[in-house]
Amino acid sequence: MPFTKLGLSEPILRAVSEFGYTTPTPIQSQSIPAVLAGGDLLAGAQTGTGKTAGFTLPILHRLSTDVVGAALTSKTSPRAIRALILAPTRELAAQVEESVRTYGKHLKLNSAVIFGGVGINPQIQQLKRGVDILVATPGRLLDHMQQGTVNLTKVEILVLDEADRMLDMGFIRDIRKVLAALPKKRQNLLFSATFSDEIKSLADGLLNAPAMIEVARRNSTVEIIGQRVHPVDRNRKHPMLAHLIKTNNWEQVLVFTRTKHGANKLVEQLEKDGIHAMAIHGNKSQTARTKALSEFKDAKLQVLVATDIAARGIDIDQLPHVVNYDLPNVPEDYVHRIGRTGRAGASGEAVSLVCVDEHQMLKDIEKLIKQTLPREVIPGFEPDLNAKAQPIQLRSGNAGGRQQQQRRANPAAGKAQPATQAKPRSNGPAPAKPGRSVPRSSGQQQSFGARGR
Ligand code: AMP
Repeated sequence: MPFTKLGLSEPILRAVSEFGYTTPTPIQSQSIPAVLAGGDLLAGAQTGTGKTAGFTLPILHRLSTDVVGAALTSKTSPRAIRALILAPTRELAAQVEESVRTYGKHLKLNSAVIFGGVGINPQIQQLKRGVDILVATPGRLLDHMQQGTVNLTKVEILVLDEADRMLDMGFIRDIRKVLAALPKKRQNLLFSATFSDEIKSLADGLLNAPAMIEVARRNSTVEIIGQRVHPVDRNRKHPMLAHLIKTNNWEQVLVFTRTKHGANKLVEQLEKDGIHAMAIHGNKSQTARTKALSEFKDAKLQVLVATDIAARGIDIDQLPHVVNYDLPNVPEDYVHRIGRTGRAGASGEAVSLVCVDEHQMLKDIEKLIKQTLPREVIPGFEPDLNAKAQPIQLRSGNAGGRQQQQRRANPAAGKAQPATQAKPRSNGPAPAKPGRSVPRSSGQQQSFGARGR
């Protein structure tokens, strides 16, 4: 079904077509009519499925065609925040707001993004001038609420984007405080890649008879994302990575490390090899993160080294190479990571450098994605088969990013946990059958309620 059949207004369709989209993705063809109908929505979808346009387009339609809204957005009355979109990270919030501006370019609505790590005063000024659609991370939004610099009493539509991530990052209390400040009568849209009991209880309290939509996880797109494992000794990972980048002439590589310290160290090592690399993680300033990301997007930076949280929301079309320098301690993060490549139908390759310490992590990942990843030993990097596994350091020693965010919600949280205690979020939607080149829609009515209770 083409975009024109979904009930969106002409200025929105024009913006979509100017942006180059011709056909809605499965989540879009289901979520757009559902949101236009005005009811609540529970959507199982992750980054890479086109979910952002799935909620942005119908929100823009509703706000721009609604009569009351038209008065609110007229020049004579001050603008009020009518749609609030909460996202877990600065990068994702910025990208969502960019989408709002792209798709809303022929409309009179305006938008703003607010997140922490940058000065609050310009945000206060922007909010004062009036905003129709606000995209925010929960922590900074709460700061504005506490200072009385944001008015949420006119919110008609609320979106929780990547709700599972927000809960993982310890934002639940902030979210509940935001919810308490919103008008009771409103439309709620909740997007989550996985459905833990915590998400279900949030959804139960938030959503009223929601439409339910689920699209396949990224790991169903096996044939467009070539995945493989290179077994290697723990102290040979860096030379192996440099070897792979150089011999294969990889030009745009996203590399995941487990810790911020590991990311910094790897950048130093790669730079010594003459490979231009930068790191993004929670301890980097927003300016440094934005610079690294934009250089990487413009292909001026060859290697971007990221921790899981910092990489959330990175949206680069046709990113060809993702490397798991360290395996993630939460198996679902593997799926999120490789979702950075092979997007919107493009092909990509996800390579994992796995040492003896990570064998259990690899098993957990393979169990989750229901497939055994091919192993390929690189000549010259054959691992020592008698090596003994050592415990893995899950986090850098200094607090920051996720740990800090956990602490703000729960002062006892954020302490390093041994690998065996890491809580896997494994009760999400079951992986779909492999063998399709685009994320598969699995129908309107789904079994969210039955799963993982
Ligand atoms: P998202 O899941 O919203 O992060 O989107 C993932 C990627 O798919 C982004 O690069 C979008 O620009 C792209 N995308 C979203 N919708 C479409 C569409 N209908 N056709 C082609 N690409 C799309």
